[in-house]
Amino acid sequence: MKITLFWHRRDLRFTDNAGLAAALQAGAPVLPLFIYDADILAPLPPDDARLTFIHHHVERLAHEAHEAGGGLLARHGQVLAVFQQLLQDYDLQAVYTNEDYEPAAIARDTAVAKLLYAHDVEFHAFKDQVIFAKDEVLTKNGKPPKVFGAYSKTWQAQATDADFQAHPSARLFTKEHLARPHRADAARPSLKDLGFEPHEQYTPPAQPPPAAVVKHYHQTRDFPALEPGSTRMSVHLRFGTLSVRELMRQARRENSKLLNEMIWRDFFMMLLWHFPHTATEAYDPRMRHLPWRDAPAEFQAWCEGRTGQPFVDAGMRQLNATGYLPNRARIVAASYLCKHLFIDWQLGERYFAEKLLDYDLSNNVGNWQWVAGTGAIAAPWFRIFNPESQQKQYDPTFAYIKKWVPEYGTPKYAKPLVDLQFGRDRALQLFREGRQ
Ligand SMILES: Cc1cc2nc3c(=O)[nH]c(=O)nc-3n(C[C@H](O)[C@H](O)[C@H](O)COP(=O)(O)OP(=O)(O)OC[C@H]3O[C@@H](n4cnc5c(N)ncnc54)[C@H](O)[C@@H]3O)c2cc1C
Repeated sequence: MKITLFWHRRDLRFTDNAGLAAALQAGAPVLPLFIYDADILAPLPPDDARLTFIHHHVERLAHEAHEAGGGLLARHGQVLAVFQQLLQDYDLQAVYTNEDYEPAAIARDTAVAKLLYAHDVEFHAFKDQVIFAKDEVLTKNGKPPKVFGAYSKTWQAQATDADFQAHPSARLFTKEHLARPHRADAARPSLKDLGFEPHEQYTPPAQPPPAAVVKHYHQTRDFPALEPGSTRMSVHLRFGTLSVRELMRQARRENSKLLNEMIWRDFFMMLLWHFPHTATEAYDPRMRHLPWRDAPAEFQAWCEGRTGQPFVDAGMRQLNATGYLPNRARIVAASYLCKHLFIDWQLGERYFAEKLLDYDLSNNVGNWQWVAGTGAIAAPWFRIFNPESQQKQYDPTFAYIKKWVPEYGTPKYAKPLVDLQFGRDRALQLFREGRQ
């Protein structure tokens, strides 16, 4: 009997999963699949905490699938090679999945679709991880909005209840709709088989955040000493362990500021889909040849939280220790690197990519470019966040700084790498000279 594979990627859940619901409604029994992509895994260090997170959730899904009367197939290898093998091992009707808008993922999916079509196997991909994707939000002239305000306004005007409705995947996830892996596939790769060791970092449960956090979100989100001052759902939205529609429904009901922040996510994914080259170069072509400083020792000090700017250092130390950083601390640390030190935002973007549990190419690049002032968005290059004023406003009692930089205020604490006024003037001058 022919079966359908449902290929999980950024959607590690069976509940409210658009592509899975479509697969379960299509007729053939469905076998969930996860591929540990050797190309993605190869450059990661053995203690990468994201692998522990992913592995844990894949195993949880396998358990849930088993309980429902089915199973989950997990393989490790290069994606095309894995599909070549699957075509030999299983009689496939179709492969269903959810869309991914990153340039490398689009290339990978195109190659997989081609391979499957050549074997008369269907390939279907669905919108799942955002409310509006690709060119679903356009200006009156039919162009992608490059300014967030305009994007968010149109997004909110065109959204209806139907856009937030849950897909019935959980209800359909029953024995009669499911296939089981062959006996030879019963064993799934362990973390060790994949070349990784367990490294747990705290993540909140994959459930909607507490009502009190959402209610006060607009008052608390900018104060990094408050835990949690924001939803902490970024890792779950990144890996799809929580449905974006579920969190958006809560935000729509309870906090318009939270809704607006979440729309940034759709905005940056839309921008990356339209302008994939901006993953590695400035959105604004005039900003592509800025004379960034080559200062490896200063960059290293920034990475390690030894810049002598306590708000920056607290953030970087929290990032290194926990894989998480509140938004305000991301802004302050990023701005200091690419403005006061005038070090290329791409180096900072890559460092965040290594460390953040919620790392997401579109959000990371989009935000870094927003901070650097190189983006398509209306953040000017001459806006420079002063870490001392930011501390006065957002960490007035030094609670956050004292937590992460205990030696602050003692002779042991690092001397500032750069005088803030000097760094600011230098950045403005280099931006003025380097802009084309
Ligand atoms: C330099 C820099 C780099 C960043 N890199 C990432 C990244 O790699 N991955 C990532 O998910 N977010 C990134 N952000 C955005 C934001 O800081 C995090 O999403 C947020 O801090 C996560 O905490 P939270 O889940 O409590 O967010 P909340 O404030 O509770 O927001 C809820 C959700 O909305 C989305 N969101 C909120 N703010 C933004 C924003 N500015 N841009 C895009 N989406 C947003 C996130 O999915 C978040 O989980 C970055 C921000 C900056 C300034």
